[in-house]
Amino acid sequence: MQLNPYEMLKKQIDDAARYIDIDPEYFDILKEPREILEVSLPVRLSDGSIKVFKGWRCHYNNALGPYKGGIRYHVQVNRDEVIALAGWMTIKCAVAQLPFGGGKGGINCSPADLSIDELEKLTRAYALGISRFIGTDYDVPAPDVNTNPQIMAWIADTYEKIKGFSQPSVITGKPVEVGGSLGRSKATAQGGVYVLTEALKALNFNNKDLSCAIEGYGNAGSYMHLLLEKMGIKVIAVSDTRGGIYNPKGLPASELKEHKMKNRTVSNFPEGENITDRELLSSNADILIPAALEGMINETNVSDIKAKIILELANGPVTPQAEKMLSDNGVLIIPDVLANSGGVIVSYFEWVQGRSGEYWDESTVDKKLYNRITEAFREIWEIKGRKKIKMREAAYVTAIGRISQAMRIRGIWP
Ligand code: GLU
Repeated sequence: MQLNPYEMLKKQIDDAARYIDIDPEYFDILKEPREILEVSLPVRLSDGSIKVFKGWRCHYNNALGPYKGGIRYHVQVNRDEVIALAGWMTIKCAVAQLPFGGGKGGINCSPADLSIDELEKLTRAYALGISRFIGTDYDVPAPDVNTNPQIMAWIADTYEKIKGFSQPSVITGKPVEVGGSLGRSKATAQGGVYVLTEALKALNFNNKDLSCAIEGYGNAGSYMHLLLEKMGIKVIAVSDTRGGIYNPKGLPASELKEHKMKNRTVSNFPEGENITDRELLSSNADILIPAALEGMINETNVSDIKAKIILELANGPVTPQAEKMLSDNGVLIIPDVLANSGGVIVSYFEWVQGRSGEYWDESTVDKKLYNRITEAFREIWEIKGRKKIKMREAAYVTAIGRISQAMRIRGIWP
């Protein structure tokens, strides 16, 4: 099955359109990206040869403010994927009421095969390529799959050297030492925990008896494990690209993270038994947290799923077809545009701190994140109940309402 995430995005917009009372012309605008830059990046590798990489940066919509969204390094990155991810950012920022539109970037590459020097060269080549396409009040990138604070620092440094002045808020997700925000690294998972807590309250579930499975053990997945453990929710299965691990008594988070750092995979962790990704998806955990790539839950595996709640920490992990089947079976899907919005919310806080030059302590960041994300949850939960629609549809209803209202007030010009 060949999944096109951009087709997924358009289908999700169409599904929500039925419940929104706005001029249909706005949907036509919202289904197309405003502009996309494609760059070719020749990089001299350590063996002396030159390899040409391809990268993109998409500006999807900026009715609510500067374009905002991460940069992804992955072998699957392509034009349509970047467009879809930028579209989801547009919805996500509107859901959280951030003064941002949506953008996204990516390089088609396999970062694990590059040395640290090659990674820096590639990153700086990309930063140079997109430098005329980003800016504090224009387009503000951030980390995404396989990118991290160090990569953000290289991009900020390249941009500032090109421009000749300091510009910390041109990018977020930077190391704290160069203007990053406290609490940004764990923010996606922390937001996910706040949303999940609200959902469990709304459903009258008791934490103590619940178990969880996490697919993907990068930044979001591994922090999620740590935070769930603190909440007293057992994580019984996790997986990454190289395999998975299962223990019905619960997997210890810090030991597993250490094991992953040493071995580059969670599999063969001594306190559990190895499982496949498919076995993880069909495990008996009450809550399933996809924290990897889009389309991981689809027609081929949806019938195996036993979880009652799916919290989308990844972007676009459940295809529309799978979502329909799951919802018909009473599974609650907490959509990506809410569930993983903690990352961009704290990016917004970083942007504000960088612009004002006044930096906040971690408890202030956490508290502001809590307030903003729980408000978004409550709004969506209320619309879901009132209109008797899915959570994703409710999220799109509120986001598209805000974006189209801004477009209407601005006017279509020329
Ligand atoms: N890449 C993250 C996302 O998909 C964060 C984006 C940001 O902080 O701008 O939401």
